[in-house]
Amino acid sequence: MAAKRDYYEVLGVSRDATADEINRAFRKLALQFHPDRNPGDEEAAERFKEVNEANEVLSDPNKRRLYDRGGHDALRNGGADPSGGMRFGGSIFEFIQDLMGGRQHGPRDGADIQVIVDLTLEEAYRGVTKTVYYQREENCPDCSGSGIRPQARPPSCRRCSGTGVEVVRGFFGIPQQQACRACGGLGVVVSDADLCRACRGRARVKRERQRPVEVPPGVDTRDALTISGAGHAGEPGGNNGDLICVFRVAPHRLFERNGQNLILKDPIPLTFGEAALGTTVQVPSFDGPIPHEIEPGLQSGTRLRFPGRGMPNVNNPKERGDLIVPVVVVTPRNLTPRQRELLQEFSEIERKQSSPERKSFFEKVRDYFRGDEKSS
Ligand SMILES: [Zn+2]
Ligand SMILES: [Zn+2]
Repeated sequence: MAAKRDYYEVLGVSRDATADEINRAFRKLALQFHPDRNPGDEEAAERFKEVNEANEVLSDPNKRRLYDRGGHDALRNGGADPSGGMRFGGSIFEFIQDLMGGRQHGPRDGADIQVIVDLTLEEAYRGVTKTVYYQREENCPDCSGSGIRPQARPPSCRRCSGTGVEVVRGFFGIPQQQACRACGGLGVVVSDADLCRACRGRARVKRERQRPVEVPPGVDTRDALTISGAGHAGEPGGNNGDLICVFRVAPHRLFERNGQNLILKDPIPLTFGEAALGTTVQVPSFDGPIPHEIEPGLQSGTRLRFPGRGMPNVNNPKERGDLIVPVVVVTPRNLTPRQRELLQEFSEIERKQSSPERKSFFEKVRDYFRGDEKSS
């Protein structure tokens, strides 16, 4: 076997060629020497193998670095796999399809795109219009998603005489029509020079898109809204994917959400006197403060409930949860002499007329210890 040729020489590129230049050179040569185009030509088959092998190394940054440093010998150990050199083992049809962006049978539908839409709790409460920004694949406008330059006049396929169809013998020798294997049914042979410049034959381009999204009142984190057809473009004749907006509601300073209920995170602090005598408080809500009258004798730890002031039901905005507001009674500290005097007097009166809660509590404890004495 003859000594291996230099890979750069095989592809006809300089040693500092870019990945793009290598890819272009490879595609050109691979099309030229593909076995389907050169039936029975041993030399072309050999060149095709050589071109594939060179590309396999030079298109891989790691292998290319190894090769640049130590030549073919550097790759022998842990380098190029001698059988893995063939990137395209199939017909030229499959080969061209691969170059054009992996086309298979029939137009393919576009993939869905998922975007996260960030909301404040208040935006989720009221509903809002948000603009979402995203990147989507679209069919190249220059070539209408074909990957072939509009000005290109690729030569007719010789195998099918431009019909795109060939007749093969099926079972029992019955002739059958199928797509031409040389041109994939295109009827023309597309060369590298015929590929669209805008998309480099990919047929698709990436585009930045933005669109308004109507967020209904009541959405919660992980709720999603699907905008049908706004995802990645399908191939010409195929359907577009969907745009899926997934909501993420940020924590709020004042309120916490629990299902459809809103809970005020910090309790409203009342003084001992306010709790005992009653008062009016301003309860915060997303619709502004709600004046609320506290009845005399409110207990610490009470949770006030405001029906219909919570989050709307996303499926029926008229149906709302409750607003729940905890209240805490703050025991007075750092008393002035006058306050102390009044409270002492108050306390003495209070001891004489024990509350039902105190009575039942101390009776329970007393009963427990009596029983304990008996049993021990
Ligand atoms: Zn194009
Ligand atoms: Zn053909």
